Amino acid sequence: MDSHQFISVRENIQSVQDRIASTLQRVGRESDSIKLIAISKTKPASLIVEAIDSGITDIGENRVQEAKAKRSQVDRPVSWHLVGHLQTNKVKQALKIFDLIHSVDSIRLLAEIERQSRRLNRRTDALVEVNTSGEESKFGLQPNEVLSFMESAAEYAHVRIKGLMTVGEFMSDPEGVRPSFTLLRSFKERIASQGYPNVEMEYLSMGMTNDFEVAIEEGANMVRIGSAIFGERT
Ligand SMILES: *Cc1c(COP(=O)(O)O)cnc(C)c1O
Repeated sequence: MDSHQFISVRENIQSVQDRIASTLQRVGRESDSIKLIAISKTKPASLIVEAIDSGITDIGENRVQEAKAKRSQVDRPVSWHLVGHLQTNKVKQALKIFDLIHSVDSIRLLAEIERQSRRLNRRTDALVEVNTSGEESKFGLQPNEVLSFMESAAEYAHVRIKGLMTVGEFMSDPEGVRPSFTLLRSFKERIASQGYPNVEMEYLSMGMTNDFEVAIEEGANMVRIGSAIFGERT
């Protein structure tokens, strides 16, 4: 039996949007100051179509191959986000699929995105992932690497750094993730004040199903929500 049949993507989206709206209102932010990215990893293209038809404009995936297969089955105009780790040998493919890469986490990867973008005569938008939780299992720059990374990033003219991304530690009480989000926001402010070329601190991509309300309170303007929209992953 198909376990998806009991899930109403439309209702789930409505309820996530309501929660986002009431959090924004509580902290005095504009109701349109956030981009909701629906994370569809492991879920079928049919549910992505349902999400788009329920008002979603941004879809996130964590693997290049999986996104490629699904993208060909989704004939709707929508932005695609890569939120998972990107290997340098997948950059060429990733550039064909994604509008924004959230997971730049090394100079080597940045250099390859630069090289492939230059070949295509285009500029690629990307976020820099920061490991704000200190967990060894997590991808992302260490906090003490972030500022020098941004200095170097200024030299890669075909990549436009549009902001920062982090994945909070999973905790039963999302309050515990707040320091991670505070740290990312403080990096955004520091970097913005430096005025590095090719570096714009427009986006703060943080907050998932378990912790997005705390992330919004700490200044997130992109939240990445999977299971609250598409149901639990098996
Ligand atoms: C899976 C994933 C999400 C969504 O996770 P949920 O807890 O299901 O909302 C967000 N960001 C990244 C990087 C992910 O891998």
